[in-house]
Amino acid sequence: MSRCQLCPRRCGADRSRAKGLCGAGDLPQIARAALHPWEEPVLSGSRGAGTIFFCGCNLSCIFCQNHAISHGAIGPRMDAEALATLMLRLEEAGAHNIDLVTPSPHLPTLIPALQTAKAKGLSIPVVYNTNAYELVESLKQLEGLVDIYLPDLKYVSAAAGEKYSGAADYFQYAAPAILEMQRQCGSLVLDENGLARRGLLIRHLVLPGSVDEARGALDFIAQNLPLDTQVSLMSQYVPCHLATKPPLNRRLTRREYSRAVEYCLSLGLTRVYIQDMEAADPSFTPPFAGEIEIP
Ligand code: SF4
Repeated sequence: MSRCQLCPRRCGADRSRAKGLCGAGDLPQIARAALHPWEEPVLSGSRGAGTIFFCGCNLSCIFCQNHAISHGAIGPRMDAEALATLMLRLEEAGAHNIDLVTPSPHLPTLIPALQTAKAKGLSIPVVYNTNAYELVESLKQLEGLVDIYLPDLKYVSAAAGEKYSGAADYFQYAAPAILEMQRQCGSLVLDENGLARRGLLIRHLVLPGSVDEARGALDFIAQNLPLDTQVSLMSQYVPCHLATKPPLNRRLTRREYSRAVEYCLSLGLTRVYIQDMEAADPSFTPPFAGEIEIP
């Protein structure tokens, strides 16, 4: 893979020889694969999402909960065949879906892996769990292979994107990327058991001191997407990694979260998951040791 241009960084790395800005090399490294109970209930269901955590990330969030893998290298490297086999094993183990976490730097391996897994009988939905810092032309390559898009819309202002993730142009790319996800998959559809089958589910993690960013993200959704777009408004922020200074060195207050929830409901959005404040627990972050934990 020479002169990589897969994401908005367009860093041009020759990944057959060296890692890109995102830390990804020629083959994806899998930090963890397991049945995961802590996604939204429509994804985790009773048996868990079949989560595959990839190493590498094109953002540098100072509050990253997964920093051990987002900019670390843990676990086995897999080619397309091995990745397809891993997906099929997760389905056999009872996973409700294949939940690909931070997959975008790995499309050159992921696309043939999905094609192979589907050709060999993978029948559960494929979830593309992304920070939304994506190029539309890269997402277009996934049309027909991804069933559920799960973008995390982080900020709207250039100042927040730069300060918290080192990407002043974050929203400039995330906004059209989310519109492309909606074009491909539409609003979220559930099956007869209440599990997600297809569509778009947008997450927004409300950050301490950033209710205005939450309002901006919700405005974008309400003004550009159907009002039945499924939103997951998250309160689970826990200070970690480099978040040592105010306001990110504390948890979200009840008052801040209530203001975000009230604003969300005032926009007429009809499908919103709201979290208990008790969800802010670091134990919900899985350990990363390169395990393939499939029963
Ligand atoms: S995916 Fe990684 S290597 Fe490719 S352009 Fe983005 S940061 Fe660079």
